[in-house]
Amino acid sequence: MLPVVSIVGRPNVGKSTIFNRLIGSRKAIVDDQYGVTRDRHYGESFWNGRRFNVIDTGGYLPDESDVLVAGVREQVHIALEESDVILFVVDAEGGITSLDQAVAELLRKQDKPVLLVPNKADNDERTLNATEFYALGFEQLFPISAINGRGTGDLLDELVKLLPEEQEEEEDKTPKLAIVGRPNVGKSSFINALLNNERCIVTDIPGTTRDSINSRLTYENKDYILIDTAGLRKKRKVKENVEFYSTVRTDRALKECDIAILMLDAMRGFEAQDKHILREAEKYNKGIVIVLNKWDLVPEKDTHIHKEFEEYIYSRAPMMDYVPIVSISALSGQRIHKVITVADRVLQERRKRISTPDLNDFINRILKEKPLPIRRGVPLKIKYCTQVKSNPPVFKFFMNIPKELPANYRRFIENKIRQEFGFEGVPITMTFKKK
Ligand code: GDP
Ligand code: GDP
Repeated sequence: MLPVVSIVGRPNVGKSTIFNRLIGSRKAIVDDQYGVTRDRHYGESFWNGRRFNVIDTGGYLPDESDVLVAGVREQVHIALEESDVILFVVDAEGGITSLDQAVAELLRKQDKPVLLVPNKADNDERTLNATEFYALGFEQLFPISAINGRGTGDLLDELVKLLPEEQEEEEDKTPKLAIVGRPNVGKSSFINALLNNERCIVTDIPGTTRDSINSRLTYENKDYILIDTAGLRKKRKVKENVEFYSTVRTDRALKECDIAILMLDAMRGFEAQDKHILREAEKYNKGIVIVLNKWDLVPEKDTHIHKEFEEYIYSRAPMMDYVPIVSISALSGQRIHKVITVADRVLQERRKRISTPDLNDFINRILKEKPLPIRRGVPLKIKYCTQVKSNPPVFKFFMNIPKELPANYRRFIENKIRQEFGFEGVPITMTFKKK
């Protein structure tokens, strides 16, 4: 897990400009479904050999001035909870405002390292004048110009010194299950239901990451680490902040886990955000299980209704019908074990390795069933195939003209692999090489 640096400060001091400078050309998280104002607010940066995540907490503040103060305060509070180092940005051009003073007061009262950054110090004169910010009560100043880069090297040198030591994490091989999903679908209730169940033993892992609460689960003599992304239980005034951090948290949990358990509320349907999480999990090649929670609220639970829900979800997330769906009630505890059983099955599937002879036998059979087309007079041929890796699985195919392979044939192969070998809940990577 990378350390986190948050950028706080009142609007217009240059937070996003600094963020963009720190992130550079690296790709920030861009969630187009959230609209433009939420673009580029979380991304990875690199300085003196240290990598860290940067969060720009700006852009979510209400316009009305009375709510603004509350908004900035809240932004600071969340930043404190979520980060290792804070960049407190002020405006060297405009000088100290009462809002700066309020933020300074909040930041001085706690232990996290804070760097006071007067921005827009574009020239010598403004850099000198920035000394007025000593009045905010911090020992050091790091005047910069986010626009022309002045002072940013010194700031970054200091910043990386303050990052927590890189922990040589001794590889814990315990499989990690991340419970992800939109707010209020029942993630915490599910974890509580496991806690209260006599067949499960759940213990806290002390001192784990600041932004997700990890616990150890033992079920049927097997150990798992649960990554709970619910967090931020407290009531927040600025709802967008909660959602933004929940996106950040979800992204980190998805990167860290072996299995992503996407929880849905059966009464609320499947939305763009759910699909986004699924696609991310797939992109990171994690095992995936979908859990339909609040099943107790579904009227007429006849045998067809689960199937209907399945069809509905698969229709919303095309090509993801390899993902198993379990309907549960976190409230009553109904089928909560099944989630763990299915997640375990997906773990095994993800580790599965198919022998090369079996694969080649398989490929010959499917080539007979559906011959490859002819391209520019040359019949396409797949010569052989091996699984080069498991956990997650990667298949390598050798063929004469890889770039001519039709997309639908690729899908056909994937479907056939699943029919023949399973890989339930597991994204499959296939590469085609010239031979
Ligand atoms: P935020 O609201 O704190 O995220 O601020 P922005 O990054 O949107 O910047 C607000 C305004 O200040 C924009 O017009 C920027 O171009 C400008 N700005 C940001 N950094 C600098 C700087 O280093 N020097 C100058 N002169 N202007 C800057
Ligand atoms: P989270 O934000 O995803 O962690 O969701 P919570 O666990 O806080 O649950 C949100 C709300 O849904 C709470 O009021 C829960 O009591 C309720 N809830 C959670 N699971 C169930 C369930 O299985 N059935 C019903 N009827 N309500 C549930």
